[in-house]
Amino acid sequence: MTNSLVLVINSGSSSVKYQLVDAAGGEAVASGIVERIGEDDGIVTHHCGTETIEHRGPIRDHAEGLALAFGMFEQSGYPLSGAGVRSVGHRVVHGGEVFYKPTVITDEVVEQISRLSALAPLHNPANVTGIESARALLPDVPQVAVFDTAFFHGLPAAASTYAIDLDLAREHGIRRYGFHGTSHKYVSGQAAEFLGRDVAELNQIVLHLGNGASASAILRGTAIDTSMGLTPLEGLVMGTRSGDIDPGIVLHLRRSAGMSVDDIDDLLNRRSGLKGLSGVNDFRALGQLIDDGNTAAQLAYDVYIHRLRRYIGAYLIELGGADVITFTAGVGENSASVRADALRGLGRFGIAVDDARNTAKSRVARRISPDSAEVAVLVVPTNEELAIARAALAATASSSA
Ligand code: ADP
Repeated sequence: MTNSLVLVINSGSSSVKYQLVDAAGGEAVASGIVERIGEDDGIVTHHCGTETIEHRGPIRDHAEGLALAFGMFEQSGYPLSGAGVRSVGHRVVHGGEVFYKPTVITDEVVEQISRLSALAPLHNPANVTGIESARALLPDVPQVAVFDTAFFHGLPAAASTYAIDLDLAREHGIRRYGFHGTSHKYVSGQAAEFLGRDVAELNQIVLHLGNGASASAILRGTAIDTSMGLTPLEGLVMGTRSGDIDPGIVLHLRRSAGMSVDDIDDLLNRRSGLKGLSGVNDFRALGQLIDDGNTAAQLAYDVYIHRLRRYIGAYLIELGGADVITFTAGVGENSASVRADALRGLGRFGIAVDDARNTAKSRVARRISPDSAEVAVLVVPTNEELAIARAALAATASSSA
């Protein structure tokens, strides 16, 4: 029996994703998702090996959802209690100024994560609920919080500071924190490994393009800028989020359109981005609409690419040139057209994409630039669960050392 099993939990407001990962070998032993928590038509979908089992029925709360999921481990012949789970790793969205490395969870840590809820009202309360449920169900297993903001904790002040009243900003914790840090760190590490180089030798731009999307500039292993800010709303155009807008728009909507703060929150987080412009947030559906000649979908795509290129340009300058540009996450790993269009016409910067390499289907890390190009353009699959599992295991080991 392996002794590097980690249960990774990503707890959202009405869903919990989980994965049992062998942190040494990197495989997912089992995984699943609890959805529609708090509803009468809840559902747990559990995958173990080639088997998928499902439970449907009311799920009152996160604790009940996780208990059902744990029951499904047992049902599939792999009870968690006997699996020798070494640690539970929790994805926690906002670590604020307090947390910048994986942290073994205690009552005090839970309280501090709770206190950070003002900065991440949609995410941190759900993360805390997941933590409390897992602690109750697995009281003897060490639990570790891995923060989405941690990789960007050391951003230079010039990159993390908003140009607003400094005292007010300090009082309310207003600064640029950045998110998706676990993915940016993991992918930049994998990119270096793929190239047979040390992260400390490379200047990298990582483009994490999923439903949420963010870019980062990494100077010899240290993040010096990223596109998300106080919240995951800033930066690139996303599936349903606007990314950068003139903050005056918020004031205008409030004053002239009579929208409440909650209406504007809903607009910018859930009804904007690709969805706001085209009606769909999934890139595959967007591509289909474009193929059908839908002009709104084409505009959404053009705005998405325009924003992406703007960040790539900014980061090339901030880094003083890049050695590596890496695409990752759902869109970045799968959309050859986004990759080609994002880097089109940049030959004079040493950036090129080889058409045959870019369009070849693959699920593993690969180079899509010609070998002769100065900048290595890569596609690297992200694996946040594995990164969290490894971080949790390391934190557990060092805390018991
Ligand atoms: P999340 O931010 O939810 O983790 P993912 O990284 O899973 O998102 O990315 C999800 C997005 O990836 C989907 O909304 C879809 O637009 C895009 N995607 C997935 N597969 C493909 C594909 N084959 N081609 C283009 N886009 C894809």
